[in-house]
Amino acid sequence: MRRIAIFGATGSIGGSALDVIARHPGRFEATVLSAHTQVDALVELCAVHRPKLAIIADPQLHDALAEGLKARGLSTEAEAGPAALEQAARSEQCDTVIAAIVGAAGLTSTLAAAEAGKRLLLANKESIVVAGALLMDAVRRGGAELIPVDSEHSALFQCLPQPAVGHGFRRDLRRLILTASGGPFRGRKRAELEHITPDEACAHPNWSMGRKISVDSATLMNKGLEVIEAHWLFGAPVERIEVVVHPQSIIHSLVEYADGSMLAQLGPPDMRTAIACALAWPDRVDAGVESLDLLRLGRLDFQAPDTEAFPCLRLAFEALRAGPAATTCLNAANEIAVSGFLQGRLGFLGIPALLEACLDRFACESAAQLAELLDLDARVRDHARSQLNA
Ligand code: NAD
Ligand code: MG
Repeated sequence: MRRIAIFGATGSIGGSALDVIARHPGRFEATVLSAHTQVDALVELCAVHRPKLAIIADPQLHDALAEGLKARGLSTEAEAGPAALEQAARSEQCDTVIAAIVGAAGLTSTLAAAEAGKRLLLANKESIVVAGALLMDAVRRGGAELIPVDSEHSALFQCLPQPAVGHGFRRDLRRLILTASGGPFRGRKRAELEHITPDEACAHPNWSMGRKISVDSATLMNKGLEVIEAHWLFGAPVERIEVVVHPQSIIHSLVEYADGSMLAQLGPPDMRTAIACALAWPDRVDAGVESLDLLRLGRLDFQAPDTEAFPCLRLAFEALRAGPAATTCLNAANEIAVSGFLQGRLGFLGIPALLEACLDRFACESAAQLAELLDLDARVRDHARSQLNA
């Protein structure tokens, strides 16, 4: 029986993970669930899935959670605060951690799971963007089993020889090709992006996701973060990673070998496939996902990404070449820019502009240790916020 902690259980990935887990009661058990501030939603999930422990990340909400659980007659224990997440990641209550918090807020609990040698299902891409070297080192030292959940990286993981993660880039590989849907504004020119609203940006044509990653998909920053993620997971040099726009989101990514052979992983755009694959690996289990109807699909299209209209992808490649301070800066500035955009305080084109301004200022710094990266992260956020208020 796999005992699973889901950090970010009330989110889009959390919901998909709970759906897969509930299909296999003899095999998977959700033992720890966490949320940021949504006490009622967390209590509701506890009533259905009966975990041993529920954690609310906001420390002020401990009593509200404990009372909510008690009022429903549940024996689930209540804890609160970021330290409780780290402690749960290291505890015997779980052997598997699904890192599904959004943003760098997920970093310390993800690192804790790696250090504790758990099977770590990584959805929280921001943590590997901020601290890729540290996370991969923690995986090695802790003897953890890191399996990507991001659909592109799950595809690469499935197409690469094992062990695929944390063992360097093999000489018989030519390229990793990440596919991108192109988001809701694919095909638009820069001038046509000026007045985009948050709801338009969050209406993704193929995937249903949280609002932050939906905006990232619309700006192509999501693909930029994924390029950085692929670099760390698979040890791929930046020049061996390419991005191709594939509007149907059926091919989730491809690996090219030295002999010219290309392997791709295909499937409907449903995150339950990648989650089930990572939970059961190397076995395969039902994820509740329909079969692909190839005849109805008919065709698969490919295009070059437009980095003129969507400069975030270019900025991510540049940041990866520049080093860890630049990727940490990119992520921190992006989190503030996206939240500013969602609050109506920054236009859509203001997102890449704010990233460039922050990169100009901070990318030349050096940061490697966790404390240095977190300090840089905080200073970039302060600067980006001050730009929003200017
Ligand atoms: P979401 O917004 O739907 O859910 C986020 C979860 O994190 C919620 O449970 C929320 O309570 C929790 N959370 C938010 N801030 C927190 C904080 N400061 N401390 C503790 N918990 C906090 O997001 P999502 O779409 O499920 O995405 C989660 C992560 O997975 C992101 O890193 C995203 O990039 C990645 N991802 C998502 C998808 C997808 O299809 N949704 C696909 C690939 C990767
Ligand atoms: Mg993805």
